[in-house]
Amino acid sequence: MIEILKARLKLGKQTIAYPDGPARFPERFRGRPVLDPALCEQGCIACADVCPTGAVREPGLTSMALDMGRCLFCAECGEACPSGALSFTRDYRLAMRTREELLVVAARGDEAKLARTLDARMRSLFGRSLKLRQVSAGGCNGCEAELNASGNIQFDLSRFGIQFVASPRHADGIVVTGPVTENMLLALQKTYQATPAPKIVVAIGACAIAGGPFAGTPVVNDGIEGALPGVPVDLWIPGCPPHPITILDGLLRMLGRVAGDELRLAGTGIVGEAEPLAGPIAPAGHDAPAKSA
Ligand code: SF4
Repeated sequence: MIEILKARLKLGKQTIAYPDGPARFPERFRGRPVLDPALCEQGCIACADVCPTGAVREPGLTSMALDMGRCLFCAECGEACPSGALSFTRDYRLAMRTREELLVVAARGDEAKLARTLDARMRSLFGRSLKLRQVSAGGCNGCEAELNASGNIQFDLSRFGIQFVASPRHADGIVVTGPVTENMLLALQKTYQATPAPKIVVAIGACAIAGGPFAGTPVVNDGIEGALPGVPVDLWIPGCPPHPITILDGLLRMLGRVAGDELRLAGTGIVGEAEPLAGPIAPAGHDAPAKSA
């Protein structure tokens, strides 16, 4: 027993400081895209041509847009661009409250948006305790693995009262991953119906948002909007898959547990600085494991 205690003490605290301290990411982490159509070369649509999901729209000298809901963050577009008009920052705060807000449009003075908080009633119901039922609706296990990681000792969603439950009847909402295959459609619909109102609906990953690379194929429903038409989605978390801190950040912003740009350093009242959000585009490949903050 003593030996176990010594080993545990030696390990120290493994949980990241976020949101009371800086969030740290692997070197190759890719976050919010930035677009500068002024750098585009006349007639060049290399970024749109190379995009596997049609996420880049209207590349041109005057306008340009990238749909984060479709984006796989593969960085092929940035590598194909000869003039650096499209690049990725390290801004992990990608979750939005509406589907439209996932569209990054290049416009001078266009500020990056952050997910808004639920209304006062929903916040009073779920702000300090949120039980979710996860439905993997044909996912590749990428988003599911990151969602699983968000509950591990490093990211520890449960310290904010957010937990996953086995039954939709015990849940305050559902979390959907995957493009919603035909095989999973009925299961998702029944899970949604079995969850008592008022309920939260969260879509995680490019597949659940818009079908991802499977969009348009006959055996998928192109994500949650095709599978549950007319059902309001409270939070859209893009990525392929999103990092656990992107998931955590989106949920906490929706619940009103994190606001604004600044980071509070625990117990000091000091405002800390996040890692620089601007960074060079990373080559395609696998990320190294995240370091704890
Ligand atoms: S990162 Fe990949 S999926 Fe996203 S816009 Fe660029 S090419 Fe398309």
